[in-house]
Amino acid sequence: MNLEQACEFLQGAASGMPAPVRAPSAPVERQDTDVREDKQMRENIAIRDDVACPVCGAAIGERCIGENGTLAFLHHGRVIAAAELPI
Ligand SMILES: [Zn+2]
Repeated sequence: MNLEQACEFLQGAASGMPAPVRAPSAPVERQDTDVREDKQMRENIAIRDDVACPVCGAAIGERCIGENGTLAFLHHGRVIAAAELPI
């Protein structure tokens, strides 16, 4: 870093530029009952067609069921169950 870059950096820091939002350093702990809204839809479908949900009892090929009916996403416990399957 040369002096010019250092000055720009300090100006940026002093002007209160928003720092990138970072998750806390500790890994996110998910509960089995969490809904994995971060998953891609094709991942959801692949998992849905592979394993039943141990959380809500949805059968293979069926959507997870939440308090308000079927979910567009899967329970974390189901994602974990799929990840543990031998491929
Ligand atoms: Zn489920």
